[in-house]
Parts: sequence; C-alpha cells; structure tokens
Amino acid sequence: MKRLVILGGGESGVGTALLGKAKGYEVFVSDKGKIKDKYKEVLIHSAIEWEEETHTEAKILNADIIMKSPGIPDKAPLVKQIREQGILVVSEIEFASKYTNATLVGITGSNGKTTTATLTHHILKQALEVGLAGNIGDSFAKQVLEKNYPNYVLEISSFQLDDIVHFKPHIAVLLNITPDHLDRYDYKFENYIASKFRIAENQTKDDYLIFDADDEVITNWLTNHPVQSKLLPFSLVKTIENGAYLKNNNIIITIDNNQLIMPTTSLTLEGNHNIKNAMAASTVAHLLKIRKQTIRESLENFQGVEHRLEHVLKINKVQYINDSKATNVNATYYALESMDTPTVWIVGGQDKGNNYEELYPFVNEKVKAIICLGVDNEKLLNAFGNMVDIIVETQFMSEAVKIAYKIAEAGDTVLLSPACASFDLFENYEDRGRQFKEAVRNL
Ligand code: ADP
Repeated sequence: MKRLVILGGGESGVGTALLGKAKGYEVFVSDKGKIKDKYKEVLIHSAIEWEEETHTEAKILNADIIMKSPGIPDKAPLVKQIREQGILVVSEIEFASKYTNATLVGITGSNGKTTTATLTHHILKQALEVGLAGNIGDSFAKQVLEKNYPNYVLEISSFQLDDIVHFKPHIAVLLNITPDHLDRYDYKFENYIASKFRIAENQTKDDYLIFDADDEVITNWLTNHPVQSKLLPFSLVKTIENGAYLKNNNIIITIDNNQLIMPTTSLTLEGNHNIKNAMAASTVAHLLKIRKQTIRESLENFQGVEHRLEHVLKINKVQYINDSKATNVNATYYALESMDTPTVWIVGGQDKGNNYEELYPFVNEKVKAIICLGVDNEKLLNAFGNMVDIIVETQFMSEAVKIAYKIAEAGDTVLLSPACASFDLFENYEDRGRQFKEAVRNL
C-alpha cells in the first residue's frame, strides 16, 4: 500500500485525504497548527490517522507521496527535508486531477481569480454540469470523489501551481500578473511569473490559453517563452481577431469566425477590470459552446462576489462600497479607477511593501478625504498627506465609518479599498469587510 501524507488539515488537505483513502492509499494528515473541529470529525469518521500541533517526522518522511497545502511555504524546514529526500510533493489540483476525466477550466492571475471563476461557473452552470473548486468552496479532491462532475472551474493560486507535475487544464485563463507574494518567490518577480505560467506548461495544441493582451508582463513573457496552447487574447484597447476586444461599448468575442457581441452597458459588474473579467469568462463559455443568449443573460444577472466592490447601502444619497478583498495596490487601482463620484477612501492595514505612486492620479482627481485604518499609517500619511484636504487615522472600523459618514455629502461614495492585508487589526479580509458592512448598517 502506498503512503500518502498530507501536510495541512484544512479544506484541501481533508478533501485529498478522503480521495486518497478511497483510491487505496494509506493516509496520514499532519498539521503544525490546530485542525478545525469540523475537519477532525471527518477524519475520525473516515478512520484516517491524523495529528495536530506537531509534525512527527518519522510518520512523514516515510511517505511515497506528499500533498502540501498551499499555505505551507517551501522555506519550512520540514519541507526542505522532504525535498532533500526526493519524496514527490504535489498540490491538491495535481493529486485530484489524476482521478477525473472532466474538462478543466483553470483560472489564475494576481487579481480577479475569485470573481472570474465565480462568474465563469455562473454562466456554465446554466447549460452544463459543472463544479467550482480550487481556492474556493468545497475542495476539488472531495468533489472529484463525491460529485464526479464532467466539468470544473478551478480558481488556482501560484502556490498550487508550484507543485504540479502533469496538471493540465483544457482551458487556462491568465488574468494579469502584478508583483504579489514575493516573499514566497525569493523576492524575484520572474519566479512568480514563471509560477503563474505553469498553468499552461502541460497544455498541447488542442488546449487554450486565454490571457490579457494589455498586460505587458504576460505578453513579454510569452514572446520569450512560447507555449503550445492555442492563444485567445483579450484586450480593452486593441482589435483582436481571434479572442476578445472592446469596440463602441461592445465586447466582441471571435473564436473560429464565430462571433459573440455583448454590450458592456448591461454588465452588472463595474469597472474596467470587471470588463476584462467578463471577457475572460465569456470567452470560456463561448469556447464551450454555451448559447450566446445564455451568456448575455448570465452576465446581466450575475450578482458579484462579497467583499469585491460590493455595494452595501446608499444612505443620504451616499453610496457605501466594500472592497475589503483589495489587499494589494493593483486591486485598489481598479477600484479607484471605477469611481465616478467624489470619494471618501478608507485605506490601510498591513503594508506589503506597497508603492502607491500609481494611485496618485486617481487620488488627485477623485478622493476628497482619506481615512487611514491601520496600526501603522506612517507610509500612507507620507504618500497622500499633501494630496487631500482631509486625512485622518483610526484603528477602529466603526470609527472609520462614522468619520466617513460625517465627511461625505450627497452624491459621494465611501469606498473601503485598503490596498493592504488585514491582519494587523482584523482576523482576515472577510472579517474586515463584515465589520465595515455592520458599521454602515448601524449608521
Ligand atoms: P483574487 O481571487 O485573485 O484575489 P478577487 O476576484 O477576489 O481576486 O478580487 C480581488 C480584488 O481585486 C478585489 O478588490 C477586486 O475588486 C479586484 N479585482 C478583480 N478583478 C480584477 C482584475 N482583473 N484586475 C485587477 N483587480 C481586480
């Protein structure tokens, strides 16, 4: 019996444990932290051996194959040791994809993965049996075991791509590449780019790579590192013969001379970044031969995803928007870009080496007041102090929202788009977003 050891007892770890056990492996789950009760119950119920708050090397280094959860960095001493011993390390998508013949749509990028994966799934599910997995919802491995869908839309982070061997999506989507998570890539942007491009490394000429042709990081890399896949670019500014582009407020998607035209005015999602996300999702749907009318209708009724430019409430003609998931500058760039009213901007948190310069034009043009919400706001004060009349600091969400309420006038927008991680003051970005919404509702 082959031994499968799983590092990390979360959603992907426990899902992989279940699938591994069903496929005849001897399975052991080891987590350096605490395992959530709901996962413990599953492991116990399925008679899978596990441990928490420790890694017992003797029970790990005898593995034939190891599934490492995406949160565990390669720097961890145990992982180094595992690699030195030459044990095969895989990610959940690698392990689970071996056991399905489903058509896989893999979506990656620095920003927009969840939005685009959710939107793609929303369109496809009108016509196909399709699961949504990866970094989102129920584990892919568990769905492969229990649901056996003929199609999956997978939201894929670079960490999952780091440990693939044969994983091959029939349709890959690469949304954009901006510096992020560089601490996991030896602070080398090239390493991170290379990791993202692994989504296409096993693709053949019968597979597709949909990508942003306006993103120079992507196009430059493709010039120097050609792929086998059929390329379907999308662009907001160029005419694209095979792929998607924008013309007179219409998205035009052409695949093998078959054209789909959709007005951007009927999109529920706002902002240029969401036009790109919609282009990518619709290109997938068009490739999979979903009826044009179905694609159009799905885009019109898609409700968006919580914490991503989420409209919360309008109070005294002031719109409150929750973009708590904007944990980097690029995401906030698109949020500010999409503002078409004077904006009171709530920003800040744990800095990830941010460079705010690209936001200056928007701040000059649209932002009337800045509320810094972080433990250390020094950098924000320095970057924007001279640019706006009002800039204040607080460490409480309720206070931030009350100040915003006082400053904002009819017709303005109050935008929470932090450009930073949330861990200095909140549990995570969801907690930050929920606190924002609660504070707004309490006004
Ligand atoms: P991810 O899953 O990649 O983190 P999300 O869909 O959760 O992406 O969105 C994260 C943040 O990025 C949100 O603030 C959202 O408004 C913004 N965003 C969404 N799509 C894009 C895009 N294509 N480019 C840049 N920012 C985006």
